[in-house]
Amino acid sequence: MTSVLRLESVSHQFDGIRVVDDLTLEIGRGEVVCLLGPSGCGKTTALRIAAGLETLQAGRVLMGDTEVASPDRQIPPEQRGIGLVFQDYALFPHLSVADNVAFGLTEFAKPVQREKALTELRRVGMDSAAEKYPHELSGGQQQRVALARALAPNPHIILLDEPYSGLDSALRAQVRDDVLHLLKESGAATLMVTHDPEEAMFMADRIAVMRDGRIVQHGSPQTLYCYPNSAFVAGFFGEVNSFTGLVRDGHVETPIGQVAAEGVPDGLRATVIMRPEGLRVTTLQAGQSDYTARVMQARLLGRSSLIHLHVQSGENGSMKEWHFHSRMPGIFLPDAGTRLRIEFDLGQIFVFPAQEG
Ligand code: ATP
Repeated sequence: MTSVLRLESVSHQFDGIRVVDDLTLEIGRGEVVCLLGPSGCGKTTALRIAAGLETLQAGRVLMGDTEVASPDRQIPPEQRGIGLVFQDYALFPHLSVADNVAFGLTEFAKPVQREKALTELRRVGMDSAAEKYPHELSGGQQQRVALARALAPNPHIILLDEPYSGLDSALRAQVRDDVLHLLKESGAATLMVTHDPEEAMFMADRIAVMRDGRIVQHGSPQTLYCYPNSAFVAGFFGEVNSFTGLVRDGHVETPIGQVAAEGVPDGLRATVIMRPEGLRVTTLQAGQSDYTARVMQARLLGRSSLIHLHVQSGENGSMKEWHFHSRMPGIFLPDAGTRLRIEFDLGQIFVFPAQEG
């Protein structure tokens, strides 16, 4: 892959605290890459360094073959040929929608600017609002205009920072679908920052998961979801059941079954992460008594049902109680108190060395 944007060993400190730590990432033409991570992990700082809005302290930033930032050389943001979209849209309030979009097209004559702005507005379905002002638009409409403005000069690189966070969930789904298709049509290399794993999976060809300034795992959405390399990454892609136990004979005994503890030696503690959708509950048949659970509550979440389960395990005299969640497809709402059998899908269970403390 020839990279259009490359961040190379980038590190950054604020007040002596390192918030981006040796980050290397490259994005090819037509690719959408998401930086995903919890609040404060350094995503926005990395994006701002790529844009040139933050002065680079260590490492380098390349756009194509051109070094645009190194500790002793910085090309200003407006000369980097990038399109920027931030969560607050940042439209100019005193300019009409059409003039906002035409703003970055100064190299063209006025009539051409206007024609190009209208073409771009048509692509985002906002051409009928060309003469309006930003305050007359809804959040979703402003976001589309911000995107049209970023795309109008045909940038090779688009940088998006939480671009949908101001939108309600229905509008967000619509706008991000439109944006994905526009970005793919444009062929630009896109770097997007988000803390929402579903959004990252929706948008990204590749996701880089960040924690404390570092990329902890990097790959396709499918790789990260199916083969997380840590309990942190597994837990970041949705709610999980977590259990820690001692490894004996290559296995961890959990209250709902034995799990192979690959990669964790006997005698050490392992954390077992089980996705709720990997725990299936079935009606108890006569004679089945192993690995059962009592239903505490069941709730319909829409496409699936969430079942809160109460499990007791241990020897007589030292019984312990556990609370697990199972997510079953469709409507499955057993009564509270019902005893069910639990089976698990090994593809949705992950075992890691326990991080004590
Ligand atoms: P969020 O999702 O909440 O926006 P983030 O992952 O994008 O978080 P950053 O905005 O990059 O994180 O911030 C990383 C850390 O750097 C945070 O602890 C933040 O408080 C700190 N920080 C960011 N900008 C500055 C600044 N200009 N001065 C001092 N500290 C800053």
